[in-house]
Amino acid sequence: MEEKKPLARLNHYFWKYRRLFVPGLLFAAISAAFSVAVPMMVRTAIDTIPRFVNLYNLYSGTAVQDYFYAQFFACLVFLGLIVILLSLLSGTCTFLMRQTIVVMSRHVEFDLRNQLYDHLQSLSRSFYVSTATGDLMTRATSDIEQVRRYIGPAMMYLARAFVFVVAALTAMIVISPRLTAFAVIPMPLLAISVFFMAKVVHSRSDALQNQYSTLTSRVQEALAGIRVLKAYTRENAEAEAFEQESAVYKDRMLDLARVEAGWRPIFLMLIGMSSVIVVWEGGRLAAEGAITIGNIAEYIIYVTMMTWPVASLGFVITMIQRASASMSRLCAILDTEPDIQNDANMDPSIKEIDGRIEFDNVGFKYSENGPWVLKDISFEAEAGSTLAIVGRTGSGKSTMVEMVARLLDPTEGVVRMDGINLKHISVNTLRTSIGYVPQDVFLFSDTVANNIAFGNLEATQEEIEQATKEAELLDNIADFPEGFETFVGERGITLSGGQKQRSSIARALIRRPSVLILDDALSAVDTNTESKILSHLRSQFGQRTIIIVSHRISAVQDADLILVLEEGRIIEKGNHDELLTIDGLYADLYKKQLLEAEIAELT
Ligand code: ATP
Ligand code: MG
Repeated sequence: MEEKKPLARLNHYFWKYRRLFVPGLLFAAISAAFSVAVPMMVRTAIDTIPRFVNLYNLYSGTAVQDYFYAQFFACLVFLGLIVILLSLLSGTCTFLMRQTIVVMSRHVEFDLRNQLYDHLQSLSRSFYVSTATGDLMTRATSDIEQVRRYIGPAMMYLARAFVFVVAALTAMIVISPRLTAFAVIPMPLLAISVFFMAKVVHSRSDALQNQYSTLTSRVQEALAGIRVLKAYTRENAEAEAFEQESAVYKDRMLDLARVEAGWRPIFLMLIGMSSVIVVWEGGRLAAEGAITIGNIAEYIIYVTMMTWPVASLGFVITMIQRASASMSRLCAILDTEPDIQNDANMDPSIKEIDGRIEFDNVGFKYSENGPWVLKDISFEAEAGSTLAIVGRTGSGKSTMVEMVARLLDPTEGVVRMDGINLKHISVNTLRTSIGYVPQDVFLFSDTVANNIAFGNLEATQEEIEQATKEAELLDNIADFPEGFETFVGERGITLSGGQKQRSSIARALIRRPSVLILDDALSAVDTNTESKILSHLRSQFGQRTIIIVSHRISAVQDADLILVLEEGRIIEKGNHDELLTIDGLYADLYKKQLLEAEIAELT
């Protein structure tokens, strides 16, 4: 019973698509009814033969004999036509049944997939920290397919099998309860064996599927990282590893083929057993005159026709079990509430932000039992000022700026914007006011223009060009074969590291954000270009708050406030001159980089 719960969540789909589902069930019933009538015609035809033979012999030598012959012939042709007609009707109904129920299941699949994707879009960054992409892909493909099979094929088989078995059994019992009892002896055996067989087939095809995923993700990773692979001359090792995985895949495939091959003979044997029992017991009954020879033929056809519906029951049960397991996996995602969303205390009247940022004793952990990544962070940055964050790698800089965009919520303490707790500002307002350039650039496999316009879908060509100019990318784009319409390849593979970074900056600038966050976003450009970009940004001084995370002193020395992070704590705070007077980590870094620059100039 418990297993039914996740599937119960699909019930509203049966109602939503009732215009397809109800006719589908009706077609299933009618098609079954038509096929049940076929054996009756066969019986009538067979039983006509002895009667005709008697009459034919009785009138032997007279003209009436020819008349009977013609009559008999017409009768058989007539019955034959009816059988063809019944089969045609049954076939048409089967076609319509598939056209309705299978179509319905495709609609449900479409709905579910969209629902899942919508939901995935709404989930916060912390969800993706703990869930693998490959896992989500499986949910979106194979789990949804399992659920679809329950809605579509499983329901279809079930409806058809039910109507067929009930109708055929009724017809059989009316003729002879005793023979019916004998004829159906192998049926439960059949259902049970199919059930177990289906279990084995399914577990093996899952294993096959898993191996296929392993294989494809291996290939995907290897091809995506082909540069590294070649640089480290790992081609042969990779090819060998692939061959091994591929061999496992082949073995799994053969495992599956073996069961599938094995079960067909069992299936045929059980059908054969039924036929033998019918002939043996039916023959005795016919000899006693309890039934006719035609009835035996009729029975054999019923029994043969019944095997597939009965066998399908075994399949249907495993289909339902699997759909249930898949659905609960889907529900686990659908029921995950985004942990960053609009708060009950949210003030919807706030539509714009100025960009005064305040951290008040903020602490952060990625997981409950994890270490404190940030601790006791307090500072204030005025609207329109430039805030810089420096610190060794892993000191918590990226984590801190992600909190400003509310991609992460503080574990303790409060982050405020314009004096208001971030949680009380609508997520949408906050994010549309922020231009965030993450440390790891992500470009979509689209044109340069579209990648930049991603920051503001309503941007005009001029605005795109302006943003590109401010990001010092315009000259580069002019050299591209198709200018703004050049495709950047998968994740921007055809661009240089610095070009990718600057595209990403242009994408943020085009939003004309109140707060601009550059998380190490100038690391791949030379100092010359860096200072050009920064001076463009400074030309709009006072209009927007800029947060710069960098390892380079040259990028941060003009900031109004510089925070020096060390192991998640602020160890130094002030402007360039103040920090030099303190003579701590910042001064240290400055001296080293100054020295490096001098050496670089000398050589
Ligand atoms: P870098 O200069 O290398 O970019 P950073 O100062 O930006 O470093 P963060 O990315 O903020 O450093 O990481 C701070 C700490 O948090 C690191 O110790 C890191 O290992 C840890 N960390 C980062 N992301 C996660 C995550 N998703 N789950 C758990 N720990 C994380
Ligand atoms: Mg970082």
